[in-house]
Amino acid sequence: MVRKIYKYPEDKEILEQKSVEVTELTDEIKKLIEDLKDTVLYKHGAGISAIQLGKPYRICVINWDGIHVLINPVITRSRGEKAMMEGCLSVPDVFVETKRFQKVWISAKDENWNDIEYAEGGNGSYIAQHELDHFEGTCTLFKEYDRLKEIENAKVDTEN
Ligand SMILES: [Zn+2]
Repeated sequence: MVRKIYKYPEDKEILEQKSVEVTELTDEIKKLIEDLKDTVLYKHGAGISAIQLGKPYRICVINWDGIHVLINPVITRSRGEKAMMEGCLSVPDVFVETKRFQKVWISAKDENWNDIEYAEGGNGSYIAQHELDHFEGTCTLFKEYDRLKEIENAKVDTEN
């Protein structure tokens, strides 16, 4: 089911929560995974984390070169650096160039609770790093939104 995506800054308190590890594939978690897939596809997003649907679990879905479900993902190795324009479904119409590892190797569980290594050489690695930030309650676009607001407020001040 396509779910409501929580937005910054309106839903700041929800989005800034830290997410917890998934210990078991319960019916609630299975439903959440289906909803994450439906929502990211419907919104044409490159990726989504569970907290964006208001659920503080370490689950994300990458929509690049197919759909990849990562549960409890941990970066084990990284290589190189690249800067790319980044956006977020929780911060519509804001983009910012962000420098990240060019490639990462991630240990995770998939939606069938199998151990997997996710190591996409292309944008998948880049998107995954964005999604992992959400588990810590942060996002490059939250910071960019705040920065743009400050500029906007400063401009209003000088006009007065
Ligand atoms: Zn995001």
